[in-house]
Amino acid sequence: MKVYISATLRNYFGKNHVIETEADNVRSVLKSITDEYPDAKHILFDKDDKLRNFVRIYVGSDDYTATDMWYKQLDEGNEVLILPAIAGGAPNDSIINEARMKAQTLDDNDIKRFEKHLLLKEISVKGQKRIKAARVVVCGAGSLGSSVIQYLAAAGVGTIKVIDDNDVSLADVSSQVLHSSRDVNRPKVASVKDKVRNINKSIEFEAENVRLNADNIAELIDGYDLVIDCTDNYKARYMINDACALFDIPLVFASIYQYEGRVGIFNHNGGPCLRCLYPEPPEPGLVPTCAEGGTISPLAGIIGSIQANEALKLIIGIGDHLDGKLLTFDSLYLSSRILNVKKDSKCPLCGLSKTILSVEDFDYEDFCGLKQDESEIPVEGLTPQEFAKRMDNNDPMTIIDVREPHERAIMRIPNTIVIPIGQLARRMKELDPEVDTIFICKSGKRSILAINTLREAGYEGKMYNLKGGIDAMKDIVFSHEGAWL
Ligand SMILES: [Zn+2]
Repeated sequence: MKVYISATLRNYFGKNHVIETEADNVRSVLKSITDEYPDAKHILFDKDDKLRNFVRIYVGSDDYTATDMWYKQLDEGNEVLILPAIAGGAPNDSIINEARMKAQTLDDNDIKRFEKHLLLKEISVKGQKRIKAARVVVCGAGSLGSSVIQYLAAAGVGTIKVIDDNDVSLADVSSQVLHSSRDVNRPKVASVKDKVRNINKSIEFEAENVRLNADNIAELIDGYDLVIDCTDNYKARYMINDACALFDIPLVFASIYQYEGRVGIFNHNGGPCLRCLYPEPPEPGLVPTCAEGGTISPLAGIIGSIQANEALKLIIGIGDHLDGKLLTFDSLYLSSRILNVKKDSKCPLCGLSKTILSVEDFDYEDFCGLKQDESEIPVEGLTPQEFAKRMDNNDPMTIIDVREPHERAIMRIPNTIVIPIGQLARRMKELDPEVDTIFICKSGKRSILAINTLREAGYEGKMYNLKGGIDAMKDIVFSHEGAWL
C-alpha cells in the first residue's frame, strides 16, 4: 500500500514523498512507517503515544484520523495520506443577495471591460453585478495575497480591503508579484494600492497598514461578505477563522509550503471551520514556516488563483465549492486531491457546545505556543557579536548546525557539527557536556526547539542558542572575513 507524506513531514521520512508498506490498517501503517523512520515518531505522536492534534490521516478522500477508524481493514489499492496543518455538492446560492445585485449597474465601460465574463452564461450580467456589489477582505499582501488581489481587482470586485502591516523587502519580490523592485521598503498596502488602481480605478480600495490582532479584527472584517486568508502564521489563521465564524462570514483559506499548497472554504453554509480540521497548530518550530522552508515562486500564483476562483464562485453563486473540503496540490509531483473535512461536533468554535465566544477573550499567543511558559527554563542565547567574539578567541565550544543539508550551501560556519533536528536525541553522544554547545539554524527558532529536545532527552551540558540564527550573522560576516566558508 502507498503512504503519501506531505511536504512538511518529508524530512522526517528520509525525504520520501511516498512510502510502500505491507500494512493493512491505519494502525499498522503508522507503526510500520515509524519503525522504518524512527525520527518521525515524535512528530506524529506525543509522549503518551497519542496522535498529535495537528496531524490528519486520510485514506483516499476519507478522514481516518479518529482512532476508531484505525482498525478498519484496508485494501492493497488504498492510498493513505499523512497531512499536518500548515493550512462540493449542489450549486450554492450567491453570498450576495438579490437586492444588492439589482442595485448595481454596469456602464458601457464595464460592458467592454468584462466582456469575457459576460459571455459565460453562468456569470453574465447578473453575476458581474454581484461581483461589483461584493465587499471582500484580503488578509495578507504577500505571495498568495498578490495573486488573489490581482485577480479580484481584474474581475471587478467592487470593494477590496487589504490588511498588512509589512514593508516590501527584496526577498518578497521573487514571489509576491504585486510588488516590484522599486517598491522595496514601501508599505505593502501602498504598493498594492498603486497596482489595483492601475488595474481598475473604479474599485473601492481600502488599505489597512495594521497588524491584525484580537482587538481590531472585529472592526476590520464586520460587514464584509467574504474574508480571504493569505497570511503566513498560525496565530493569524486561527484568529481570522474564529472571527469569521463569530461574525458569520465565509472564509477562503489557503496555505503554501515549498512545493505544496492547500485551499479550503470554512464557515460557509454551516460547514466546518479550521478548528474542525486542525484543533491545534503544531508547536512552534516543529513544522517549518514558509519563510524558513522556502517556496517555489509560481506556487503562490497557482494556489492564490484557486483561492480567487473560489471567492468569485461564492460571490456569483456557481459551481461546486471547497466548503467541507480541502484541496491539496503538490507542484513537484503534479498530484492533487480533494479531501473531505468533517464538521466536528466537539469543535469549541462551531460545535454543539461552544466555548470560544469572542476573539478578545481567547489567548492566541498561548494557544499557538508563542508564550514563554513560566515553568519552562528559558533558553540562553548568544548575540551574533558574542558568538563571533567566542570564535575569534578560539573559545572551546561545540557548534551544532541543525539546518538541512541544502540550506547550508547558503552560508556556513567553520568547524560545525551537522545534525538535522530529527536526529538530535539519537546522536546526543556526539556532544561533550563539559564544553558549551552553541546551536545554530536559519533564524534562531529551530535551534530553540533543538535545545528543548535535548533537555527532554536528558542532556545536561550547557547549551546556547544563536539569536536570530545565520540570518542575523550576515551583517557581521564582512567584519570577520576569513572566519567563514
Ligand atoms: Zn469548527
